Amino acid sequence: MVTEVINTNELHKMDPVFGQMSFDDHEQIVFCNDKDTGLKAIIGIHNTVLGPALGGTRMWNYTSEWEALNDVLRLSRGMTYKSAITGLNLGGGKAVLIGDAKTQKTPELMLKFGEFVHSLNGKYITAEDVGMATSDMDLVRTVTPYVTGISESKGGAGNPSPITAYGVFMGMKAAAKYKFGSDILEDKVIYVQGIGNVGEALVENLSNEGAKVYISDINQERLEEVRDKYGVEIYGGSNLYAEKMDIYAPCALGATINDITIKQLNAKIIAGAANNQLAEEKKHGQMLRDKGIVYAPDFLINAGGIINVYAELENYDRKEIIRKTENIYNTTLEILKKADTDNITTYQAAFNIAQARIDARKNEK
Ligand code: NAD
Repeated sequence: MVTEVINTNELHKMDPVFGQMSFDDHEQIVFCNDKDTGLKAIIGIHNTVLGPALGGTRMWNYTSEWEALNDVLRLSRGMTYKSAITGLNLGGGKAVLIGDAKTQKTPELMLKFGEFVHSLNGKYITAEDVGMATSDMDLVRTVTPYVTGISESKGGAGNPSPITAYGVFMGMKAAAKYKFGSDILEDKVIYVQGIGNVGEALVENLSNEGAKVYISDINQERLEEVRDKYGVEIYGGSNLYAEKMDIYAPCALGATINDITIKQLNAKIIAGAANNQLAEEKKHGQMLRDKGIVYAPDFLINAGGIINVYAELENYDRKEIIRKTENIYNTTLEILKKADTDNITTYQAAFNIAQARIDARKNEK
């Protein structure tokens, strides 16, 4: 699962929409309700200065609507900066469906959701996220053209996860080059937390390079499957953060980097796929910097997936997808160096570049 631990008591104290700490100047938030199918969805459109707001749909059994709202707002904001830093002409948006994807996701519900997406006339374009598969997007495609991440057999770019993992691998290599002077990951001790779609593909890249990989997940079956497939080790301890390692790769939950874990963290680099890894971006970015831990910003290095789905809109081919994803290496290295030069956190350095691109486009208009 990939949502974040949220103190809902704190959320209740705030105004529900504009007062949400994660509201951060969203342009539009759409609440979608359909009694017949049981659909309860929220679409967050954070910013459309660079283009239509593109971001996946997550289906999750949230403990409260507040939690769902907070999740969609944080995720859609992240998409704005992800596309901006990657140089894509896309804004930031995201959708969440409230419910259990295993038991409550029906074709009728997905089609109804597609109709809501269609009603926004392309201002928001969806794709898959946690709880969704390419087959769900294929279904949505039957009621709206404003969907990406559809099957290759239907003319889409297919599952984005392997490309996301490849981008994370590139970002990790750049961070290693910066920290160790070499981007070769052979024999480096790397902990991959969460071996779902992206985590597994990352493990494959890392074991091909000869890294010493440890895996952790809450799903024991999956752990054994991935261990047997790639010959990596299952982490058997109770506190991964305190283990001595070269690289920590968060590929499951958001907000795993927080007041508690930073104190324990014994890694030299953090580079992973999870969205919103820093519980509080400014504070925790600074704490990592103070500890000398190199943080490869999540929204920068996990952009492979959006590069992959963007290909469907721009009609570029696989070669171009790979080229753009490999460029994550150069951008990461550049940003890590810029953070040093400007004496700011790596998160802030990446954020400033993304924001400057948005501001420049706004001024052109
Ligand atoms: P996924 O649902 O396939 O995998 C997540 C894995 O994390 C699961 O195996 C789950 O059991 C495990 N997990 C959940 N809680 C855990 C915990 N506390 N400790 C250890 N493992 C735990 O999701 P995914 O598509 O692989 O995405 C992983 C992360 O990357 C998410 O944060 C997602 O938002 C982000 N991301 C994914 C893509 C993509 O292309 N799929 C793109 C960008 C960002």
